[in-house]
Amino acid sequence: MILKKHIATHVGTIPRSGIRDFFEIVQSMKEVISLGIGEPDFDTPWHIREAAIYSLERGHTGYTSNLGLPELRQHISEYVARHFSVSYDPKSEIMVTVGVSEGIDLALRALINPGDEVLYHEPCYVSYSPSILLSHGIPVAIATRAEDNFTLTAEELEKKISPASKVLMLNFPCNPTGATQTRGELEKIARLCVEHDLVVLTDEIYSELTYDGAKHVSIASLPGMRERTVFLHGFSKAFAMTGFRIGYTCAPAILTEAMMKVHQYAILCANTTAQDAAIEALLNGAREVDSMRKEYELRRNFIVRSFNDLGLDCFKPLGAFYVFPKISSTGLTSREFSLGLLEKKQVACVPGPAFGPSGEGFIRCSYATGMEQIKIAMERIAEFVEETRR
Ligand code: PLP
Repeated sequence: MILKKHIATHVGTIPRSGIRDFFEIVQSMKEVISLGIGEPDFDTPWHIREAAIYSLERGHTGYTSNLGLPELRQHISEYVARHFSVSYDPKSEIMVTVGVSEGIDLALRALINPGDEVLYHEPCYVSYSPSILLSHGIPVAIATRAEDNFTLTAEELEKKISPASKVLMLNFPCNPTGATQTRGELEKIARLCVEHDLVVLTDEIYSELTYDGAKHVSIASLPGMRERTVFLHGFSKAFAMTGFRIGYTCAPAILTEAMMKVHQYAILCANTTAQDAAIEALLNGAREVDSMRKEYELRRNFIVRSFNDLGLDCFKPLGAFYVFPKISSTGLTSREFSLGLLEKKQVACVPGPAFGPSGEGFIRCSYATGMEQIKIAMERIAEFVEETRR
């Protein structure tokens, strides 16, 4: 049997993630320092893990409501109101999901008819374009530039809007660039969304991780936006809970109901133990979030300075835990640079085009790695750059 011809065309034609391919090479090598992983190096705070253990001890081992534990939704509602200045009804407007990953998929599947266009800024998180294709939408990338600090400008967005545009996906602070948007920039984008009747999916998974006193603003909180926005957030990054697989969507009831139908039949509910742990994170996790954030900020300062000292332009991002230095002055492509660095110096970083074609000429380095490792990695990168330039 030739199974290949049975694979659905829209699945068969999607490329595998560039990050995964690269990390298969990394895993086959010894002694590699990885600046490639988009995952906190901190363990989940102990009291959160204890809450998970206690949940099992109490025998919380059944399904929860499709939308998630009512108590968790109540705490999410309070957390979102406090941090993002927008209120959602925990009974009908909040749904607990298997990470933000599931939230993205649900929102797209609930909204997209075949042929609808979905706009997103690029370089962007690896799942955006494939998720749009999997929901039979048409991905429309808007390239952001280092000269604009990788922000999305209303002017560039407007150029890409067509009669088929239905959804705009935003991710600030951004993976892979660390870019953030000011309130003023978001207001201009919000006006365009209202004018062109776009629904916004805003992935704010890195919102707690901002630096230099930058204040995160959610587009959902701007005038006219709550009613047309799906706010996506989760526990993976700020609370160092990637393996718990817990996220959530906040959206008007009619949209939540549509997403819930997809979730109900595909997933049923998010993991119960992880939901109990998430309650503890929201109730008592703020101190650890802040201390991790401070540590990331120190690392960011060091890594940005080191790249610029090497003559590789690196914009100082105000959020997330990535830097996106420009390496084109070495004369190498992103892939040549990353592979050369890995083979010659055993340092792993991700080639920029893994995040879309506009990432060419850049690499992504994560600073969710201990400072000592980062220091050694930067010494090795300096050697590599010097040898390349010789
Ligand atoms: N969105 C962005 C921008 C990310 O960087 C990631 C993970 O790296 C995710 C979503 C996935 O998050 P989760 O672990 O909540 O599924």
